[in-house]
Amino acid sequence: MKLVICEKNISARRIAFILSEGKVKNKKLGSTPVYEFTKDGDVWDIIGLRGHIINLDYPKKFRQWREETLSDLINEEPCKEVSEKGIASSLKSLVDTNPFIIVATDFDREGELIGVEVINLIKEYNKNIKQLKRAKFSAITNYEIKNAFNELTEVDYNLSDAGESRQIIDLAWGAVLTRFISLASKRLGRDFLSIGRVQSPTLALLVKKEKEIRKFEPKTFWKIIATLEKEKPFNANHSEGQFWDEKQVKTIYDKVKDTKTATVEKVDKKINKEIPPAPFSTTTFLQSATYLGISAAYAMTIAEELYMLGLTSYPRTDNTVYPKSLNIKGILQKLSKSRFSKEANEVISNGRKNPTRGKKKTTDHPPIHPVEIPYDKKLTRDQEKIYELICRRFLATLAKDAISETVDVSFDISGEEFKTSGYRLIEPNWRAIYTYFKEKGKPLPEMNDGETIDVLKIKLKEDQTKPPKRYTQGSLIVEMEKLSLGTKSTRHEIINKLYMRKYITLSPLAPNPIAIAVIDALEDCDVVKPKMTAVLEKDMNLIAEGKKTLGDTVNESREMLTKVMKTLERDKEKIGTNIRIAHMEQNKVGKCPKCGNDLIIMNSKNRKRFVGCSGFPDCKNAYPLPQKGYISNTNNICDKCKTPIIRVKNKGTKAWEICLDIKCQERK
Ligand SMILES: [Zn+2]
Ligand SMILES: [Zn+2]
Repeated sequence: MKLVICEKNISARRIAFILSEGKVKNKKLGSTPVYEFTKDGDVWDIIGLRGHIINLDYPKKFRQWREETLSDLINEEPCKEVSEKGIASSLKSLVDTNPFIIVATDFDREGELIGVEVINLIKEYNKNIKQLKRAKFSAITNYEIKNAFNELTEVDYNLSDAGESRQIIDLAWGAVLTRFISLASKRLGRDFLSIGRVQSPTLALLVKKEKEIRKFEPKTFWKIIATLEKEKPFNANHSEGQFWDEKQVKTIYDKVKDTKTATVEKVDKKINKEIPPAPFSTTTFLQSATYLGISAAYAMTIAEELYMLGLTSYPRTDNTVYPKSLNIKGILQKLSKSRFSKEANEVISNGRKNPTRGKKKTTDHPPIHPVEIPYDKKLTRDQEKIYELICRRFLATLAKDAISETVDVSFDISGEEFKTSGYRLIEPNWRAIYTYFKEKGKPLPEMNDGETIDVLKIKLKEDQTKPPKRYTQGSLIVEMEKLSLGTKSTRHEIINKLYMRKYITLSPLAPNPIAIAVIDALEDCDVVKPKMTAVLEKDMNLIAEGKKTLGDTVNESREMLTKVMKTLERDKEKIGTNIRIAHMEQNKVGKCPKCGNDLIIMNSKNRKRFVGCSGFPDCKNAYPLPQKGYISNTNNICDKCKTPIIRVKNKGTKAWEICLDIKCQERK
């Protein structure tokens, strides 16, 4: 028999359909679907997993969080447990005495590890595996799947070792540091503070930006803006740009303010070639998706769905260069029969000679591109949006340069120089296909040297310098890639994790007080600096290339962690106090109407939350709270009883505001 292991059920179903030419029988083993068919006298069974079916964890004696065991934890070997018991038992009953196993999981580190997990599990059942092969593909299309199964390769244990080392290292760092900081700040149970090898340096980036924003002091400056008119009104700025001296700007303004004409001094025209963007890597794809208002994690989910549907290629890739083997013409032919027919035909008849290319070139997967058109498949609105983005990007990379003209004009207004510039798209080419970029500017009327132009008005405008911009999810992912934080597969998940752990808000992307306290606490040790994480990331690549072993890498990471813990132990008291202060800050809901001290959200011994007065024990004022939902401060007090008003937000419902005092609520 041939047993094919796929990463998910949906890919198993599609692969079975393709390999069997549609003649597949759907079976069920327990609750696990299995796809069976006969081909060339062989029985094929195709099964889909749910990603990893093995979970790494520490032995039972470490389940309780205790300070004394932290240093033992660093060097403890984690144990492997089957996390998908149903799938494991289906595998057991499927495997006959002479199985030929083909691993057809996603082709990357994690996919290879998932395949090896299954192989090891099957070996445990004491079956001797006659043959073991690997099918590698970048898209679930007829052509790619048949090709992959005709040219089976070997399982790459170096690649799975790289994946496993990441699991072991992340488990150790996460467990040890999370436990340490939660114990030090006495935040246990559901309020524990999580720390992670990639998560924490990412959070540190957000905290650093937040501090820059808070430290920022706006400076006042002035601009002189003239509104001129030829055919239609347009603006020109004094060539000084920003004036910092009020007296100086007023003198100049007084000199020009009543002038009615401007003389054109110089017209400078330039023709520019604008090269289309490079093919999509995961990072640039996620960056573009977040511009469309789709969060990085959600965009990745949709891209995976489109991949499983066989519409787009594998979405996890660093590659920005189309491989020679990619059948670009074939894809264009398909797209010419889709709703992008106009764009596709334009590219077919009038495209660029060679597609654009980015800086990174890898050989595992091609850049993200469409592979098939949906025909009558119904896509959801968001799937449609992402599919369109991928199609337009692909078409743009094959389209001709856009040609534009920029014009810089300077004017004389009562002896002062003013400047303006205009932009005009002459040949849009790719810009007409990839319509997501904003226009770079507006066209100006035709003007000649020495010409006199009417001045409608001249304005003195006061303005202030702006604080640094916050990260967007897209720009944060780009920064993470630059610093080698995480991988193409994990960056969006890390941001989501920070949000789930309530360290950050998503819009705007900003850390809350606890996050700042945690990062401040960790500042002196290397765990929040990108360097250590980048070193480990590099080591994992070396394992994948067979140049380093899993054992050495894990041991080195344990040495690093031991050093980090030494620094942290030294500062334990300070860390605990600072986090507790930040926690109080974050959980203040207003002032106590009885004594004027702060009211704070706390947890009782039996883990129920309530609001207590920080004047305790002198003031015993306290209020019960709803146990579900996110509670925040409104800075308002109740007109009737002067108790703070709180906001309660349950998942999926609108937030509501109530008086904290239940008796007062009932009176209404
Ligand atoms: Zn009080
Ligand atoms: Zn009230």
